[in-house]
Amino acid sequence: MLPSLFISHGSPMLALQPGASGPALQRLAAELPRPKAIVVVSAHWESPQLLVSGSTAPETWHDFGGFPRELFAVQYPAPGDPQLASEIVELLHADGLAASIDERRPFDHGTWVPLSLMYPAADIPVVQVSLPSRMGPALQTRVGHALASLREQGVLLIGSGSITHNLGELDWRAGPETITPWALEFRNWVVDRLAANDDAALHDYRRQAPHAVRSHPSDEHLLPLYFARGAGADFSVAHQGFTLGALGMDIYRFG
Ligand code: ZN
Repeated sequence: MLPSLFISHGSPMLALQPGASGPALQRLAAELPRPKAIVVVSAHWESPQLLVSGSTAPETWHDFGGFPRELFAVQYPAPGDPQLASEIVELLHADGLAASIDERRPFDHGTWVPLSLMYPAADIPVVQVSLPSRMGPALQTRVGHALASLREQGVLLIGSGSITHNLGELDWRAGPETITPWALEFRNWVVDRLAANDDAALHDYRRQAPHAVRSHPSDEHLLPLYFARGAGADFSVAHQGFTLGALGMDIYRFG
């Protein structure tokens, strides 16, 4: 059975400059059975209500500015999977969660950047589920639970965000050897609580974790972790590291 994954997707430049994350993502993809389909909850699709992407051929959306032209030329032409999208809506409904299909949603970079490294052939169907970020961690845990059974059908479930994400505190000249202490302290707290399976502390991270608000001024980049955790079990760290001083690049595996 496939695990669920939490991937820190870093800066969009990861697609062109994969650093240490690229080989880690490639290794992970090589270790796993080939998925029949991939479902991604990305930090870059916030919405008030749950939406599921239902396009047959989603476009690659370059949802950022100020990056080099080569990055805007990258395409990730994986197909969508409208049938899986409908199944996801049914699973969410069965769990009492309102959800509907968005037939025009393109892939945002939280989806296509890591997938372009893991599955560069772009030949596995991908469906995105939106992130009602105002509803916090508890909803993401519930969505993960609701979709967990898809793992038994060969579907890879991914939460794509970032273990730390404060863009105002990044050092764009820092190499991977530079690690900002408060970001590391926050990251270590999360890893300890995941290893202890401490549901209560994880859901209350904003009050209990050290430097929580500094690590996540808004929490849309951490929330996909709760989706991945809710969908899986048996936590392990697949990759760890920082880039730009304070941007955590950890990848976690559940199951
Ligand atoms: Zn992001």
